[in-house]
Amino acid sequence: NHNWQLSHPILKTILEDTDLFQVDLALTPPQGGDMSVFTPVFTDYHVVVLDYNGDDWPEATRQAFLDYVRGGGGVVVYHAANNAFPEWPEFNELIGLGGWGGRTERHGPYVVWRDGEIVRDMRPGPGGAHGRQHRFVVDHRDTEHPITRGLPESWLHEQDELYHHLRGPAENMTLLATAWSDPVTGGTGDHEPILFTIDYGAGRVFQTALGHAGDDPPPALQCTGFIVTLQRGAEWAATGAVTQPVPDDFPTADQVRLRPRFVRETPDKLLAELAGYTYNDSLEPLVQLEE
Ligand code: ZN
Repeated sequence: NHNWQLSHPILKTILEDTDLFQVDLALTPPQGGDMSVFTPVFTDYHVVVLDYNGDDWPEATRQAFLDYVRGGGGVVVYHAANNAFPEWPEFNELIGLGGWGGRTERHGPYVVWRDGEIVRDMRPGPGGAHGRQHRFVVDHRDTEHPITRGLPESWLHEQDELYHHLRGPAENMTLLATAWSDPVTGGTGDHEPILFTIDYGAGRVFQTALGHAGDDPPPALQCTGFIVTLQRGAEWAATGAVTQPVPDDFPTADQVRLRPRFVRETPDKLLAELAGYTYNDSLEPLVQLEE
C-alpha cells in the first residue's frame, strides 16, 4: 500500500536510530504473485512492523503470525496496514480498528473519544476515511502508559492524513491518543483514535494511524512526534517496557518539530562537519544546526 518503497527504509532507519533494534525487511511477491513463498519466521523477532496492504498471505503464514502474537510477540500496525485483510477476523481483533476494504458495521463499532471517555458507535456505515492532509494536534488520553509517559500531552503533528471512521472489534484496547478531526478539512468533528494498544493473547500490539508516505520526502515521517511515538511503541510491543529517554526536540502544542534525516545529530557533530566544509559540500549540517 502507499509508497512502500519510500516508507520501508525510513521505518527501518527510525527504529535502528534507537540502537535498540536490528531490522530485517520481509517482502511479499508482487501483487498476483505466488504468495506461497512468503513464509517469514516471525518467532525469530521481538516485534513485527506491518507496512502492508496486499494479497492474502497463505494459510500457514497467517497461522504462524497469530501463533507468534498469541505466544507473546509484538506487533506495530503502521498507518495503512490497518487497511489490510478486511475479511480475516483474527487480524481485525489483533489490530483493534481498521478501515477501507469494504469494512462496515459488520466489522465492529466506530470508536471515538467524547466527554472524557471511549464511545463505541454501532451506527451503520463504511469504515475508514480521511479529509484533506493538514497539520493537527495529537492529544494524549493515557499519560501513564510506558509509550506516552513523560511526553508532552498535546503536540502539533506535521502534515498528514487524519484517519476517521475506523471500525473494528476494539476489544482489549487502550486508547493512548486522539486527534480532533476538523470538519473544515473534511473531518468528523470527533476526537479520532490515533495511537492505541491492543492486548492479543500474550502479545502486545501498538497501532499508529499516523505516517502517510506519498511524496518524497514524506512530511509526516519527519515529524519528531511520529518518530518518537513509533520508536517507543515498537519497544513497548517488543518488550512491554520503554527505556528510551524523552527527547528534547519533541513538538509542542503549537510548534511542529522535524528530524529531516530521521536522526538527531548533536551540535558538536554538526559543527565538526561544518568545520570541514569545502565549496559545493552539502549545507545540510547548517540547516540542522539552525533547526
Ligand atoms: Zn495514507
